[in-house]
Amino acid sequence: MIEIKNISKTFKNNKVLDGIDLTINQGDVVAIIGPSGTGKSTFLRCVDRLEKPETGTITIDGETQDLAHIHGKDLTELRKKTGMVFQNFNLFSKKTALQNVMEGLIVVKKMKKEEAERIAREQLKNVGLLDHANHYPRHMSGGQQQRVAIARALAMEPKLLLLDEPTSALDPELVGEVLDTIKKAANEGYTMLLVSHEMSFVRNVATRVIFLDGGKILEDGTPREVFGNPKNERVKEFFTKIN
Ligand code: ADP
Ligand code: MG
Repeated sequence: MIEIKNISKTFKNNKVLDGIDLTINQGDVVAIIGPSGTGKSTFLRCVDRLEKPETGTITIDGETQDLAHIHGKDLTELRKKTGMVFQNFNLFSKKTALQNVMEGLIVVKKMKKEEAERIAREQLKNVGLLDHANHYPRHMSGGQQQRVAIARALAMEPKLLLLDEPTSALDPELVGEVLDTIKKAANEGYTMLLVSHEMSFVRNVATRVIFLDGGKILEDGTPREVFGNPKNERVKEFFTKIN
């Protein structure tokens, strides 16, 4: 179980997150939906501490960290337990697919090169890109790059995988292969927190959906509950607009 408590984040006068609490069970795929600019990315970034919240804690494996003050060794440990997949892939452009996947294993997990390479090849094979191991990002499609980014995140065996709109930068014909890769990881039991506009995917793969707006979680339930019978007026309105 992963417990996130009381995350608050303000940019200047803009209170984006207003004391968000979220408990995620192991193996859950939690999808965050909500209007643009509502703090979905900020929330993921606070969890991974790419962004520093004013308040907030995270408990993983019974160990609680204060996200407002975490640093040094504790921060490294947190980053080992969380993995992030970004909208724009964020691969190292001067490294091959294989080197991209190996990097964190060597630098963060202090693995020997041979061991890191073995795991990286296994992960590339899992996302169907072993034959692209020696390719550089610029020679791969967006879909392939994102699958490398997913392989890179999974290689670290994160307790929580964070995915921020992983398909929104892709041409439509490349979305499916990335969603399939995420679905496969979900079926393997990875615990995920995912921001996505792919509503049919969310319906299909998420075990839980939360709707974020105005700094608060307005809706929290199974896809069937949230899509089928939203209680909040703002949420109802959002669904009428996107349908
Ligand atoms: P979402 O991912 O839901 O579209 P974001 O988390 O990106 O929303 O942004 C939430 C709000 O916080 C927006 O109003 C955005 O302009 C603001 N914001 C995000 N990052 C920063 C930043 N680094 N500096 C100032 N404002 C920011
Ligand atoms: Mg965003």
